[in-house]
Amino acid sequence: MAVRKITEYPENVLAEVGKPVTTFDKALEELCADMFDTMYDAEGVGLAAPQIGLNLRLFVMDCEGIKLVAANPEIVHTEGEQSSQEGCLSVGKIPAVLTRPMKARLKAQDLKGEWFEREAEGYPARAFMHETDHCDGKLFIDHLPKMRRDMVIKKFKKEQNWK
Ligand SMILES: [Zn+2]
Repeated sequence: MAVRKITEYPENVLAEVGKPVTTFDKALEELCADMFDTMYDAEGVGLAAPQIGLNLRLFVMDCEGIKLVAANPEIVHTEGEQSSQEGCLSVGKIPAVLTRPMKARLKAQDLKGEWFEREAEGYPARAFMHETDHCDGKLFIDHLPKMRRDMVIKKFKKEQNWK
């Protein structure tokens, strides 16, 4: 198990549509263990494969009691609306208010390749959508109006310069 380096905006892999996971083996298990390590180390609640430089449709999360591995994730149903702050480990956790559905149903494959569906509400539902977006080459800032998106990027670049 190991903590991997987190890819940051504007690295290309974050904007690419991920390739499907097709092999469910020991290597995938080890990769997910690394992803959990990396996520906990960064104090995040979710981490997608592109965030460690891999063009793959895969994420891990541990958010309000929902801990799972999702390969080939899809959001199959959404309901309602929530407006709250969201941030991303690949954009320096700079927060911005983003309106998303309140509930989401995730369909994905587990480490053995078995399909499952899981429903969540509030924060974990937000994580389902945020991480599935990563697998489609989308960042949360892509949902923001241009002015607020630019503001987050500006803050992030400023922070990077301080490092
Ligand atoms: Zn993210």
